[in-house]
Amino acid sequence: MTGTFKLLHQAARTFYQLATKTALQCPTALHCYSSPLPHPGTSHLKFALHISSCHNMAEQRYCVEYAKRGTAGCKKCKEKIAKGIVRVGKIVPNPFSESAGDMKEWYHVKCMFEKLERVRATTKKIDDLTELEGWQELQDPEKDLINQHVKELAAKAGAAPTPRKKTPSKTNQSPGAQSTPPAKAPAANPSPLKFSGFSAKPDPSSPAPSSSSGSSLSTAQCDPKHKDCLLREFRKLCVMVADQASYNTKTQIIHDFLTKGTGGDVFHGDTYLTVKLLLPGVIKNVYNLNDKQIVKLYSRVFNCNQEEMVRDLEQGDVSETVRIFFEDSKTFPPAAKSLLTIHEVDEMLNQLSKMTKEEDQQKVLEDIARRCTSNDLKCIIRLIKHDLKMNSGAKHVLDALDPNAYDAFKASRNLGDVVERVLRNRQQGPGGKKNA
Ligand SMILES: [Zn+2]
Repeated sequence: MTGTFKLLHQAARTFYQLATKTALQCPTALHCYSSPLPHPGTSHLKFALHISSCHNMAEQRYCVEYAKRGTAGCKKCKEKIAKGIVRVGKIVPNPFSESAGDMKEWYHVKCMFEKLERVRATTKKIDDLTELEGWQELQDPEKDLINQHVKELAAKAGAAPTPRKKTPSKTNQSPGAQSTPPAKAPAANPSPLKFSGFSAKPDPSSPAPSSSSGSSLSTAQCDPKHKDCLLREFRKLCVMVADQASYNTKTQIIHDFLTKGTGGDVFHGDTYLTVKLLLPGVIKNVYNLNDKQIVKLYSRVFNCNQEEMVRDLEQGDVSETVRIFFEDSKTFPPAAKSLLTIHEVDEMLNQLSKMTKEEDQQKVLEDIARRCTSNDLKCIIRLIKHDLKMNSGAKHVLDALDPNAYDAFKASRNLGDVVERVLRNRQQGPGGKKNA
């Protein structure tokens, strides 16, 4: 199915016009992959469409699921949302009771995006949906439908969302799904938008913040052979941070690492790259790999049973699933010792992000695993999933770099520049070597 999905990506542009014009169920055989209407009962799917206001940084949470009973009305058009079709819920605080938890306002997919379109002046950032929790559990037609809307919205706003290799843009409809074709051609050169809370520099032409050039001072101060550059030490840091409940303590631990290093005297690692890797959800590579695809490819690499892996995935942590099956692999055992550096990891992840074909992705994933212990690979999968599970946000990480780093990053969204300035200030500061 993934193969077909990929094919669909490639054929998408052509299909899109045909499919939207005619709203055919199945314009050609290529469209005919299995996609039964999901059982309403099986899927309480939650994912956050990261749509955040650029003014107050508040993140509006959304969820998506197949309508359970068909009794709820759409908040926008007031029509009932038919049972079994996908609906988007805006999660709002319960106005009557703080302790009673959140409430959801439901929308047709189309209605939600119409609404988003209207508020786009103040609200922005629809992230790469495939990265979102629970997203991969959606059936493909619904994924495609929502992806299409995201793409349209981004196009109208004059910038692409997180760059994707191939954007699925067909509108294959399951019966009852929102079948209104997305609006026609995007307006030419609409006003530049502020993308997300971090905005400030709308630059649709630049590929991704992750490709910013980094910091030359950081590179200069780094000894690539030093222990501070090892993935193993980075992993330990992540575990220590994750284990702490207090955000102040999390920040302190990262701060200590970035200033004193593993030896406790001076940090010999790459400040820029360390911070970048600590923010996988912010400084992003896009990999086009969801949990099921990761499991499928690694089941081939490890020569183990894919179905068993998929079943294990129900535990909810793909990185742990991969780790367990890696350890059990007879034909592809993990490395005995962890010697990977974060530079090597970064390089491999960059490679992976350039691959669009499944076999190419598998090749890179295999090359990565060949050099990994099971814990290394677990950490790398988390990087691929853009979540180190440290329960800490960009602010807690950047505060560890410098008290002003977070605000500076929000303004420029250029981590390389922020790190460069922090390091320069340190050099020139009271304790620095070169007092100007
Ligand atoms: Zn509606």
